[in-house]
Amino acid sequence: MLKDMDIMKLMDKFHSDDACREVLEDLRWPDGVTCPRCNSKSVSRVYEYDVFDCNSCRYQFSVTSGTIFHDSHLPLRKWFVAVFLMVESRKGISANQLRRVLKVSYKTAWYLCHRIREAMTVSNPKPLSKIVEVDETWVGGKKKNVGHGYKGNKVLIAGAAQRKGNIRLKVIDDRSREALHEFIKQHVGDDAEAIYTDDWPSYNGIANGDTKHETVNHSENEWVRGDIHTNYVENIWSLLKRSLVGSYHKVSKKHLDAYLDELEWRFNNRENPYLFRDTLIKLIKSNNLEYKELIS
Ligand SMILES: [Zn+2]
Repeated sequence: MLKDMDIMKLMDKFHSDDACREVLEDLRWPDGVTCPRCNSKSVSRVYEYDVFDCNSCRYQFSVTSGTIFHDSHLPLRKWFVAVFLMVESRKGISANQLRRVLKVSYKTAWYLCHRIREAMTVSNPKPLSKIVEVDETWVGGKKKNVGHGYKGNKVLIAGAAQRKGNIRLKVIDDRSREALHEFIKQHVGDDAEAIYTDDWPSYNGIANGDTKHETVNHSENEWVRGDIHTNYVENIWSLLKRSLVGSYHKVSKKHLDAYLDELEWRFNNRENPYLFRDTLIKLIKSNNLEYKELIS
């Protein structure tokens, strides 16, 4: 039922907060309800209050205790709609759109977006392999009355994309050899077959015994040479830029890495029929992100 989620299934299945709670219970405790304080499985359900009572340590808890869903005062159904919209919209959804759709305050919508986005971060992802395209791009604000080359309020993003596979995106400080080599070291496996880039000199020296480095000479208007090109990663740039313009308008540098993680999560799960469920699992298993931590 949680496979290939669409809006009709969402409305049918999650018609009440109780229905949402039931699913969260299965996702949080696939082997049966467990006390979060002492790990005891001997718990009693207190039906009137949606809570459990631990028979070992007497701790009272609910399925959302200690999770991101707790203390938000937001009905679970609104959370579920927000998660659905965030994972199913190809270009993402802004806090403003969520505010209108869910009839909540802007502050609530913004907080909701950030909490869901935070849960989409994958720690220690598998390094990219086979053929990987690497490129970098500027995004961000335009400033009037400055020259074409002005980059003052723009942010630089590095991207690596395994052909037909996963992508990794990160904000980097500059286009130096140091920054780009570090990015590649972190995200591309040592055993990758080849790395394709343009002819920007900072990329020189990324080859090793196992990995070839091939370039297309963009500076001489060469874009494709046989199989060698960076079209795949450049498609990601256009997706990213359309998302930023269409859904987010303005993105601060501080939050940009989180936006990139969200885009990565959606893109890398584009063929996963359980994307909605898997996102809920990440949410129910992630720690409560404090509001003050977010706005600091
Ligand atoms: Zn207990």
